[in-house]
Amino acid sequence: MRYKPIIGLEIHIELNTRSKMFCSCKNDPDEKKPNFNVCPVCMGHPGTLPVINEEAVRKVIKTGLALNCKIPEHSKFDRKNYFYPDLPKGYQISQYDMPLCKEGFLEIDTSTRTSSEPQPNSSVSTLSGAERVDGKKIRITRIHLEEDTGRLIHPEGADYSLVDFNRAGIPLMELVTEPDITSAKEARRFAEELRLILRYLGVSDADMEKGQMRVEVNLSLSPDEKLGTKVEIKNLNSLRVVEKALDYEIERQREILQEGKKIVQETRGWIDKKEITVSQREKEEAHDYRYFPEPDLPPLNLGKEDFLNEIRAEIPELPQQRRERFKKEYKLSDKEIEIFVFYKDLGEYFEKVISELRNWVKALEFKTKLSDKEVQRLIQLASNYILTDLQGLLRGALVADEKFLITPENFAEFAALIYEGKISSKIAKMVLAEMFKTGADPSHIIEEKGLEQITDTSEIEKIVKEVISKNQKAIKDFEKGKEGALQFLIGQVMAQSKGKANPQTVQDILKKELTKS
Ligand SMILES: [Zn+2]
Repeated sequence: MRYKPIIGLEIHIELNTRSKMFCSCKNDPDEKKPNFNVCPVCMGHPGTLPVINEEAVRKVIKTGLALNCKIPEHSKFDRKNYFYPDLPKGYQISQYDMPLCKEGFLEIDTSTRTSSEPQPNSSVSTLSGAERVDGKKIRITRIHLEEDTGRLIHPEGADYSLVDFNRAGIPLMELVTEPDITSAKEARRFAEELRLILRYLGVSDADMEKGQMRVEVNLSLSPDEKLGTKVEIKNLNSLRVVEKALDYEIERQREILQEGKKIVQETRGWIDKKEITVSQREKEEAHDYRYFPEPDLPPLNLGKEDFLNEIRAEIPELPQQRRERFKKEYKLSDKEIEIFVFYKDLGEYFEKVISELRNWVKALEFKTKLSDKEVQRLIQLASNYILTDLQGLLRGALVADEKFLITPENFAEFAALIYEGKISSKIAKMVLAEMFKTGADPSHIIEEKGLEQITDTSEIEKIVKEVISKNQKAIKDFEKGKEGALQFLIGQVMAQSKGKANPQTVQDILKKELTKS
């Protein structure tokens, strides 16, 4: 029997607000000193009252609008009661039946184009530019707002545990999908695209390793369209692990079902070292939490169009819109576009460079007018140098960093110099490295170091003749028809000219000289 995986996701995201959800304590995920950012409110002292953080509400709604959600007119907070040492109040303020956002969707690309973060240093020549296939809509059930818990620390070998409440009360957004996902790869794609959107929106850094984004999956296997027994998997701290754990769990359940046994409804955890899931506990039902409306907080009325329009206006260009625009405006391959979309700052830098290049093309129009094809060649050249040579120099650093010294104007000038044949590709590498180091403009570097390409044919002829006289063996090889001999001689001339000769001119002159004798 064929079993179809039916997968839903529950994703928790820590919002990057200035203060905590219900008090004015600093929201600082990097605070190392335990129990530093705490106060009577987030410690749950008797007599204290929570106050709703407006910034957090706005950030959730912003996310909801970006994910095509409906924003109900009315919303409220509820108490979710459970006892655990990292929860000071003995309950968590969350949202039960009236979440801030509901009924949205996110379209994901299910092609094999990118199954992980793009590699910035992959050579552009190997970029295939695979065609994008139709996306798949994953429905979003709801997005609600709650508060995070503290953090338990279990010192190794000790017979006690410690608790740090710096995280307690940090605004936490929970997003729940419909069970529309049918493979581990799709689950990963969804989480990847969501993470990118959260970063574009500026609502969270969504760093999974830091616990800023936590993914839980619900999985059931079914021979028909009906839902089977649901198993939840937790402790997934990277996108790679989300995919791995699901692949493992799908296989585990398939084997159990094929043996005619039953799946237990439970929560399982991923053990990364062993690459397996293990049973943690049987799943609670919602009524175990005894939800009831939070009496200390007023209900929210959010339906006002002005309020929603104000938030809508803050939504920037989103990843998918950027992909489509880059395709249309710059005609780059999907793989190149993906790098510019993932590394947002690099994409922005590229656009500034192109804008400078367009100014240059415009200024050039007094002399010569470039055809569309030539302009496209210029754009592609700039893209190639940014994605390979510049990324190589950056070694993972960001162009948005203030230590990065190459201005878009200088980079555009650099691309124009290569385009015009004023410097060879070999010299270009040296010039770019120098620009990276000092921030100087390229023509300055070329002049100062005498790197301008030799276009004077008589000068190249002189070097060619010298090389011929010194390499009689290679000449004989060439006469015998050995392919490598010509390349060897070109190499010698290039080396003699310190890389400044135009390789094509060298080849032409060499051939002429060799066939003459
Ligand atoms: Zn506090």
